[in-house]
Amino acid sequence: MRVTIAQGRLVSDQVFEGIKNFLLGTIETKGKRIKPVLTFNFINNQEDQGEEYDVQLIDEEIRKIRLEEKVDKSNTGKEFDYFFSRGQDIRQTHSIPNNELIVLLTGERNNRNFLGYIDDSMLNSFVYTNGWNRIYSNNVDSIFPIIYEIYCWILRANMFDNSTELYQSVHKDNEGCAMDFCEDLRDHKQKSRSNDICEICNDFLIKRAFREDIKQYIYNSLDKVRHSILRRNNGRTDVTNIELKYVDGTRQFIVPGYNDQIIKLEPQWKTIYYFFLIHPEGIGNKDVVNYRNELYRIYKIFSVREREEINEDDELKEFEIESINRLVAYNQGKVYTGKNNLSGAITSVNGILKTIFNNHIIDDYLIKNRKGKYVISLNRDFFIDNTNV
Ligand SMILES: [Zn+2]
Repeated sequence: MRVTIAQGRLVSDQVFEGIKNFLLGTIETKGKRIKPVLTFNFINNQEDQGEEYDVQLIDEEIRKIRLEEKVDKSNTGKEFDYFFSRGQDIRQTHSIPNNELIVLLTGERNNRNFLGYIDDSMLNSFVYTNGWNRIYSNNVDSIFPIIYEIYCWILRANMFDNSTELYQSVHKDNEGCAMDFCEDLRDHKQKSRSNDICEICNDFLIKRAFREDIKQYIYNSLDKVRHSILRRNNGRTDVTNIELKYVDGTRQFIVPGYNDQIIKLEPQWKTIYYFFLIHPEGIGNKDVVNYRNELYRIYKIFSVREREEINEDDELKEFEIESINRLVAYNQGKVYTGKNNLSGAITSVNGILKTIFNNHIIDDYLIKNRKGKYVISLNRDFFIDNTNV
C-alpha cells in the first residue's frame, strides 16, 4: 500500500522535511529497516510560494463549523473543494494511480476550521498544517499532531465508502478515538494522547477487510507519535527561537530571545547540529554513518560560505571529507577518540550551548541521547532557517 504526501501551499520546507523524515524513520526499528507494508511517496511543492505566506490565522477560532451549519461569509478560509481540486491536480500531474490516497498538507485555512477532511472518493484528503499552537503547548512540535492526522486519514479512508458515511460516523462526544469530531479543537489533545480506535471504528476496518499488518504498523507508528507528544509536555515552557542566519559572511546559529547570542561553532560541529535539527525523529548513534552523504552535503553549506576560495569547484577537500568521516566512524572499524568523533563532537556542541546559556536549563537545545537515539527535542516551529534571504 502506498500513500502520497504532498507539500501544498504555505507549508514550510522544514515542516515538510520533518514529517518526511519521521514517516520514513518509522519504517526502521532499532536501526534496521523493516519490510515496509506501507510506503510513502513524497511530492515537494513545485509552486512559487511568494507572498502567500502572510495569510493570517485567526487564533481565537477554535471551534469547528459542522457541515450542517452555515459558514459565516466573513470567514476568509477556502472551501473544501479548493483543496480537493488541488489534490486532483497533483494526482494528474504526477500520475498517481486512481486507487491511491493523497494527503495534501496545506497551510491555507479552510472556512470550517477543520484540521483536515476527505472528498467523496475517499482518496483525496488534506491536513491543515498551521495553527496547531491553538491546541498544543509550545513544547509540542506541530509535526507530531500533523503526522497523527496523516495516519488517521489512512485509517479513515479505509473505513468508509464515502465522506457522508464518515461524517455520520464521527463521535460528537469525545471517546479518545481517532474518529472523535473535536468540535472544540482543543479536544484534539485528548485523542492524540489516548491514541485509540474504539471497537465500533475498529469493526469498520475489519468489515472492509483492511490488512491487519498495515493496521498494526499504523498503530505502532501512532504510538511513536503519541510518545513525542507526551514527552514534550515534560519540558520547560520558556523556550525561545533559534535561528540560522547569514551574518558576517558566514552561516551562524543565533538565539534572538537571548540577546541575539551567536552560537559559535566549528563548521563540522555546525554540520552535526544542523543535521539533528532537521531530523526531529532522532537518529541512532550507529545509524549516523548511513547519512554520510547528507552530512557531506550539509558540510558543504557551511564550509562554502567560510572558505569561498577553496571551494570554488564545489567539491569538498580531502580534510573536510576526513572530518565528516571521523564523526561517523563509529562502526567503520576505525577508532577515533577525542572531540572529533561523534560523541565527542556532541559533548563539545552541548558544552558550548551550556556556556552560552549560562547553565540555564536548556535541554530542548541540546543533542540528547534518548534510548540510543540522538535527538534535539526543540520545537521545530522555533527553528528558523534564514540563510536564504
Ligand atoms: Zn471510534
